[in-house]
Amino acid sequence: MHLKSLSVRGFKSFASVTMFEFEPGLNAIVGPNGSGKSNVVDALAWVLGAQGASALRGGSMKDVIFAGGSGRPALGRARVELVIDNTDGSLALPYTEISLARTMFSAGGSDYEINGNPARLSDVQELLSDAGLGRELHSLVGQGQLDKILHGSAADRRELIEEAAGLVKYRKRQSKTATR
Ligand code: ATP
Ligand code: MG
Repeated sequence: MHLKSLSVRGFKSFASVTMFEFEPGLNAIVGPNGSGKSNVVDALAWVLGAQGASALRGGSMKDVIFAGGSGRPALGRARVELVIDNTDGSLALPYTEISLARTMFSAGGSDYEINGNPARLSDVQELLSDAGLGRELHSLVGQGQLDKILHGSAADRRELIEEAAGLVKYRKRQSKTATR
């Protein structure tokens, strides 16, 4: 499984449609300070179902919508679409390519789509949890978080690695079984 492309429109600093294409392996985004590199990562977290404004470096969830700038007026909605290559079947849907999309209107609320069909947040989360991706998982390491990892205790580090490796759901199932 690898990320194929990310398309953003009206999300944070990206007023017009902006498309990023990724190759398998390592990809880098470079640019001057304030040019929107972290916003690309925020878009990735957001389309994967990120909840809570602080996860997206904003004061409110609506801060993800382009607020105007460089002579352009504010927009009424943000939309991000992520296309994932699923030829190895990591995600439990019978498609070699999976598209996840999230749209938010300034009136509030988010709409999700999986391969163009309306979906609930829980559908997106369930699809991603098997692949160790998604909400509250540390497959995305933000600016400043690295310090936390380097200076954390051995137990904290182990927890992060286990989360990134997708072991958390097994632990949850294990403790569920234990308490039965
Ligand atoms: P650095 O190298 O300092 O980490 P960066 O490339 O990661 O910078 P970002 O943090 O991604 O930069 O982008 C910051 C820019 O995004 C700021 O100019 C900010 O005004 C703009 N921005 C963030 N949210 C919005 C929004 N809702 N509408 C318009 N612009 C926004
Ligand atoms: Mg940054």
